[in-house]
Amino acid sequence: MQDLIRQLLAELGEDPSREGLLNTPKRVEKALKFLTGGYDANLDEIVNGALFTVDYSEMVIVKDIDFYSMCEHHLLPFFGKCHVAYIPSNKVIGLSKIPRIVDMFSRRLQVQERLTNQIADTIRDTVRPLGVSVVMEATHLCMSMRGVEKQNSFAVTSAMHGVFRDQVRTRMEFLELIKLRSGVSAARESTSASLACMGED
Ligand SMILES: [Zn+2]
Repeated sequence: MQDLIRQLLAELGEDPSREGLLNTPKRVEKALKFLTGGYDANLDEIVNGALFTVDYSEMVIVKDIDFYSMCEHHLLPFFGKCHVAYIPSNKVIGLSKIPRIVDMFSRRLQVQERLTNQIADTIRDTVRPLGVSVVMEATHLCMSMRGVEKQNSFAVTSAMHGVFRDQVRTRMEFLELIKLRSGVSAARESTSASLACMGED
């Protein structure tokens, strides 16, 4: 990877042998491996048996989970907050596991819509709850740095399964509890990714 990064620097018009760039290929390789470490993550190792039988059927919410991902269209970061809710059927998952599941899928080349779905599907398949909902709001540097559209806007995506999909009241309760920073109204709870990077240019 380091040779490729030296080549890239040269293509950009830089001198890869100047002092400030000498160790850059090594650092970039290390950074990229960390930022895409989610490919090597193993769900079973992350969950590690932290599923517990309970008699509890109220909404469990983990909100404001910070996440950092990389847009697959431009290889630039997008980052923001992820909010997860589920209603247990008879199992709950250790709360610390949810941010780790978010990391597992964030640390890959992604589009925000797929990332949101993968987190929701994984929680659905692992916890088998009555319903699960994931809402993500993110800033895309490929848009803000390049001056595309509104530079301070968030892209909001959501995925709803089970009772969150079927019951408006449950969905509204969750959306009310997370109070999106972006001020997206509850009426727009369905995937509203118009501001996410579409990779058109
Ligand atoms: Zn992009």
